[in-house]
Amino acid sequence: MSVIIDESCITCDACLQNCPVNAILDDANNPTGEKRYYVQPEKCVECVDLFDDPQCAAICPSIGCITWDMPYTKEFDAHFLNEEFYALCNKDNILKSPSIKEKKYRKDIPQNMRGVGKEVQEEPQ
Ligand code: SF4
Ligand code: SF4
Repeated sequence: MSVIIDESCITCDACLQNCPVNAILDDANNPTGEKRYYVQPEKCVECVDLFDDPQCAAICPSIGCITWDMPYTKEFDAHFLNEEFYALCNKDNILKSPSIKEKKYRKDIPQNMRGVGKEVQEEPQ
């Protein structure tokens, strides 16, 4: 990962239909219990090697709803384990944190553009 879907999600389902790696869960299956769609950071690859832009953000009608977070790498293991936006899945009683498996991320997005709430989308001109 990573991108985050915030509380301005209107649960329209467009992002879920367009994610190439099935990383998005609907509001009924959001593991945090929030009534919004949820991007699984342990699955999202920021559309690297697939599309020029994150497809969820490209199609989302709620501008500002989808924001960047830190790369899903070992360096940010504690962040993904502790940030309230996430509920990492358990498998065989092992948390799928970045220390177990890192994911691809966009190296052209600088660190100062990343973090909970940093904009992915821009308002149309
Ligand atoms: S950035 Fe790409 S891979 Fe990640 S959730 Fe959005 S559409 Fe899926
Ligand atoms: S496209 Fe945007 S508004 Fe629609 S479900 Fe996804 S995050 Fe929510």
